[in-house]
Amino acid sequence: MSLDDNMAARIAQLRERMDAACTRAGRPAGSVTLLPVSKTFGPDAIREATALGFTRFGENKTQEIRQKTGDLAELNLQWVMIGHLQTNKAKDAARDVAEVQSLDRLELAHALQRRLETEGREIDVLVQIKTSPEPSKYGLPPESAADFLRTLARDCPALHIQGLMTMAVQSDDTQAVRACFRALRELHDHLKTLAIDGVRLDRLSMGMSGDFEIAIEEGATEVRIGSAIFGARQYPQ
Ligand SMILES: *Cc1c(COP(=O)(O)O)cnc(C)c1O
Repeated sequence: MSLDDNMAARIAQLRERMDAACTRAGRPAGSVTLLPVSKTFGPDAIREATALGFTRFGENKTQEIRQKTGDLAELNLQWVMIGHLQTNKAKDAARDVAEVQSLDRLELAHALQRRLETEGREIDVLVQIKTSPEPSKYGLPPESAADFLRTLARDCPALHIQGLMTMAVQSDDTQAVRACFRALRELHDHLKTLAIDGVRLDRLSMGMSGDFEIAIEEGATEVRIGSAIFGARQYPQ
């Protein structure tokens, strides 16, 4: 079997599981977007995925995005930053990415705004919320979200706010995982009632290879899937 068949089969299986989760939640099958997360995988794997119809890819390092933008220039792909973004990398992100899902602080928002003005570009953003108690997880505290969105809408016109993103606690306790996703959806519902000018809230990016079904049951509109599409990641020492 070629690698191609393997990836196609993995994606077909993934879509079946996504659809089943939609059905369990009373949502239409096919209503959840699949964002392939290509971090650590090279141009060949990404080419295979584009042959299967994908044009947006999640990544977590600006340097890796730069490299892949060069390697895959002819494909005109859209890069989505999903990992922690250092403020001193705002310039690279402003040049290379179509969207940032890990926007979690004003310092970063203002740096992106300045750099985007220079580039003459605008991007979509999701605000990353910390729903898990783990110190290793990034994100804005939920109670700061309303003020954050108001400031963003006022100060950062090059950032088009679309919704929220989170990473659930890493745990075998599915109730604890579910609570993280539910907290994000409830925050999203609350923020929508505030009807903040210039803020669109209709995307919830939550769920990864290990927990996407729970995320869909709790209202994810988009899941970010790496290993279930590309295989296990190997990190250099
Ligand atoms: C790596 C990563 C993913 C994908 O993880 P998998 O478990 O490989 O599906 C999703 N979201 C974020 C923020 C990531 O860093």
